[in-house]
Amino acid sequence: MKFADRIEKLPPYLFAQISKKVAAKKAEGIDVISFGIGDPDLPTPTHILDALHKAAEDPANHRYPETEGLPEFRQAVSAWYERRFGVMLDPAKDVISLIGSKEGIGHIALCFIDPGDVALVPDPAYPVYEIGTMFAGGTSYALPLSEEHGFLPDLDAVPADVAHRAKVLWLNYPNNPTGAVASIEFFERAVRFAQRYDIAICHDGPYSEVSYDEYVPPSFLQAKGAMDVGVEFHSLSKSYNMTGWRIGMCAGNPKIVDALMRVKSNLDSGASQAIQRMAIAALEGPQDAIAEHNDIYQRRRDRVVDALRRLGLRVTPPKASLYVWAKAPAGMTSAAFAERLLDEAAVIVTPGNGYGPSGEGYVRLSLTLADDRIDEGLRRIAALPALA
Ligand code: PLP
Repeated sequence: MKFADRIEKLPPYLFAQISKKVAAKKAEGIDVISFGIGDPDLPTPTHILDALHKAAEDPANHRYPETEGLPEFRQAVSAWYERRFGVMLDPAKDVISLIGSKEGIGHIALCFIDPGDVALVPDPAYPVYEIGTMFAGGTSYALPLSEEHGFLPDLDAVPADVAHRAKVLWLNYPNNPTGAVASIEFFERAVRFAQRYDIAICHDGPYSEVSYDEYVPPSFLQAKGAMDVGVEFHSLSKSYNMTGWRIGMCAGNPKIVDALMRVKSNLDSGASQAIQRMAIAALEGPQDAIAEHNDIYQRRRDRVVDALRRLGLRVTPPKASLYVWAKAPAGMTSAAFAERLLDEAAVIVTPGNGYGPSGEGYVRLSLTLADDRIDEGLRRIAALPALA
């Protein structure tokens, strides 16, 4: 049997390695506390589950869905964009449903990338931008995100010949893994860059509703000209604790939305209608759960930041996202620090270099574990001798 090169080229899935380590520790009878994956621990709100129960009873939802999503779903997404961001979308042309945003992020590479083409991809980043590009036969040009630049890419530093060859620019704010945020002005600079070089922008914004200290993240689609050059990927996963249900959306430029619809209609048969009904209930129903969850995450964030600082680490409290991005002690690599926390405190953190070379020297801690587990994890970290 001979697999395609793309299988050989795949790096090991970041969390697969971590899961292996956890399994080994567990086999030794050690209670491991994981600040690894960003998967909300809180349940999906009841009114959203009620919509699923009701939708399950309707035989119309037992059949194949349309690739683009129910008209009511696309309408609910458009109305939400208008209420939340003041962005006007045509539900018939500017919105498509996704089986979670990861699915659309992976598939959209097939809309832009031919073999040998270039995608501009932040480093560090959610790995799917680069993997999708590679699956389509393209290569990624890394845009380093540095602390000095607020973890925003320096678009002026992209060589003109690379920019001319690039087909797509990936952006993600609030950012995973750094927790950084971007302003509408930054998005407008990105739009001007995309216009200059005839590049499409794919903005990935699943954390726009997870924010702290009164900060309200903008949408990329609020930027002047954004609809002309790009789309935004979004998801119900993090806003409404719905990672298990797999529902998201892509919104923006209708030509890009249509191209994605054509790719998807050949590869999948759309998002389950019953789950689209859940998403409609989430977007149209009471929004109090979002503020309640953000209060919980903010308290966790403060405790995590405090504990890491007491250990001597440099860490900026994030204004948004589910992650704390902390500098490893001086002279220690991400992996060495993560391994030390695992060996000496049975605590898992994600090594920053797993998100790209510029993540070296950092670790990421997710805030999505129950309060008592956070307390225990932080107690163990606090018991370590000062590291920096
Ligand atoms: N984009 C980013 C930046 C993420 O961190 C994640 C999940 O962790 C996703 C997209 C995918 O989310 P989903 O497929 O659940 O919508």
